[in-house]
Amino acid sequence: MSDSADRVIYMDNNATTRVAPEVLEEMLPYFSDYYGNPSSMHNFGGQVGRKVTEARQKIADLLGASPDELIFTSCGTESDSTAILSAIQSFPDKRHIVTTRVEHPAVKNLCEHLYSLTGHKHKVTQLPVECDGTIDLGKYEESLTEDTAIVSVMWANNETGVIFPIEQMAAMAKERGILFHTDAVQAVGKIPINLKKVPVDFLSLSGHKLHAPKGIGVLYVRKGTPFAPFLIGGHQEHGRRGGTENVTSVIGLGKACELAALRMDEENTRVKALRDRLEEGLLASIPHTLLNGHKTDRLPNTTNISFEYVEGEAILLHLDRFGICASSGSACTSGSLEPSHVMRAMGVPFTAAHGSTRFSLSTYNTEEEIDFVLEHLPKIIADLRTMSPFWEEAMKAEVVCGCNCKKN
Ligand SMILES: *Cc1c(COP(=O)(O)O)cnc(C)c1O
Repeated sequence: MSDSADRVIYMDNNATTRVAPEVLEEMLPYFSDYYGNPSSMHNFGGQVGRKVTEARQKIADLLGASPDELIFTSCGTESDSTAILSAIQSFPDKRHIVTTRVEHPAVKNLCEHLYSLTGHKHKVTQLPVECDGTIDLGKYEESLTEDTAIVSVMWANNETGVIFPIEQMAAMAKERGILFHTDAVQAVGKIPINLKKVPVDFLSLSGHKLHAPKGIGVLYVRKGTPFAPFLIGGHQEHGRRGGTENVTSVIGLGKACELAALRMDEENTRVKALRDRLEEGLLASIPHTLLNGHKTDRLPNTTNISFEYVEGEAILLHLDRFGICASSGSACTSGSLEPSHVMRAMGVPFTAAHGSTRFSLSTYNTEEEIDFVLEHLPKIIADLRTMSPFWEEAMKAEVVCGCNCKKN
């Protein structure tokens, strides 16, 4: 494995993104020259406060929100925790949470933890998904009860890019007086979001998924939504989140949101074209290969492909030798032999789930990079398959395809 940053072909943007050069440039003076505390009475701090206000406005503009509906947090995970724990405290008599089987661990593990945290008083419904990763709205409707305190459903899935119908789902919760939270960490900056039209009460986002630094997040709380703070301390964020603002990162996030608004159309055309070229090229040139997730209700930058009878980890290690960064849906690296919870929820067959590989692109990827992957990956897969006993057996049995999802 090379430790060099040059010649890296970075296709793991759903894990984290490069800080945009424009973002870094905007931040730098606030480390060196303008280091005041935005809460200070003097003008040295006040000018920083005004820059934070400006950044807050830019973030609000990207979401169709009002600046005073935004709370700065330390990350997407803190935003998720704050929203869900707030709803639990606001409605102590309601003991039910609705979420899905494919949430990010920031929501999934918190909900599972809550169950034991509250002495098994809270019941959690984890909605299943279809084999293409989409949700059945009928099942969702059935899950909502008088006892439901909050629904937490991600806007777009980090592993497959599948987009959920958040506008409809939030409206259905609202009709029943149930709070609705969406983890929009993967959606913000990639697809248009207008919270004037989408009646969510809470929305989480994270800076490092849209070319701002790591360690800055936002929780949107709709005006009028009951709110209980998570971090209690100073009067920052109107007492809704104590702690001196991460000024430089807030300023970077503001710039990143401004850039995202400008580049959204490009992301939805140029980046999508690159993604499609990669996806179609791989599906066409490598046999026994399947797409995981809905073909169109999907983020423009993400493709998740299973190469049957090979291990995702092995694929990643071989790609890494060429400087290609991607990610695997299986969790073997964490010491477990289970495929990812998302692949399992979609019912991806065992022989395919282990070989699921995610490529997530950004505005910085080029056509040459796509062609480089298309040139090298077919040989990597072919070589790995010659070493796979499962592949040999499947070929002997003349298995056509392990895919059981007829939707794609
Ligand atoms: C990355 C991610 C998070 C966590 O964000 P952090 O800022 O890393 O805490 C939460 N949800 C989704 C969908 C993500 O992709």
